[in-house]
Amino acid sequence: MLDFFMCWTDSDPVYQDYLPDCNILVSLPHVAQSWNVKKFSTPPRKLIIDSGAFTLLSNPSLKMNQSKVFNLQLNISRGSSVPTLLCHLDNPIPPSVTNTVDVYRRIETTLANAYEFMHLFKSSGLPSNYKSLGVIQGNSYDTLTFCAREMNRMGFDMLGIGSLAPLFKMEIILDRVRWVTSVTGPDIHVFGISGLEVGSKLMEMGIQSIDSSRAMRIAINNCVIYSLPFRYFKISARVNKSLPLLEAPILCDCPICKKDPNLILKAGEKRYNNMRAVHNFYHLRKELEEVYVSFHRSNP
Ligand SMILES: [Zn+2]
Repeated sequence: MLDFFMCWTDSDPVYQDYLPDCNILVSLPHVAQSWNVKKFSTPPRKLIIDSGAFTLLSNPSLKMNQSKVFNLQLNISRGSSVPTLLCHLDNPIPPSVTNTVDVYRRIETTLANAYEFMHLFKSSGLPSNYKSLGVIQGNSYDTLTFCAREMNRMGFDMLGIGSLAPLFKMEIILDRVRWVTSVTGPDIHVFGISGLEVGSKLMEMGIQSIDSSRAMRIAINNCVIYSLPFRYFKISARVNKSLPLLEAPILCDCPICKKDPNLILKAGEKRYNNMRAVHNFYHLRKELEEVYVSFHRSNP
């Protein structure tokens, strides 16, 4: 089973309090700078602390650089006893950037940061549960394989691929992942994957891990999902979607519904969004686990 990391902000539920073996991805801009992993009432199974480059780049006033990002990551993760992956500051390539010179300029920044990060990481004497995660950037076969080869040489513990979140076509996402894995092998992290269908395909490719904020986004949109079979409902008639309205809860063995199945049907408050997100995450993970089991049953 691939590792599924839930994206977490400091106003979200502590998913691992409800669901054992939960992996968490914390993006620097999504937590207070004074926050620390020891504030988790239950430690996650694995932790990724990424740089939150997309947010940082859209807020130039934050004036972040690689060494500032690294120091913040150290403060946030200090005392972590679980496998903890730290990412360098990368330079994402949004779909609007298509000029080859611009793309390579961004990749050069990503590589320079990655190089500086590895120096900081290796000289920090971190405990052995800390690992380095390099983020490959690019938007074509040539740029992605170039970046992947350069990153491969830097000695990261693990590599990942970024800039996929804003892409909506599954085939484009899968092509990019395939190009990268032709250099790195499938043992990579794929950042920002939201769709269940893409997640399933990545699992079939043998990808190591993915992360997603989808369970929370669905919850905020006043929608709920159920697994096996996969079903998608809105809980408020005001949601402008052609989705069926769920008027009464369906039997569910997630920890929220076991307590009170009506909690996930309440709209309008963050605490109910949080409960709905736990429920949604439970079902997303269950669907992925089922895909994994049936794939390995037919491909022993
Ligand atoms: Zn439930």
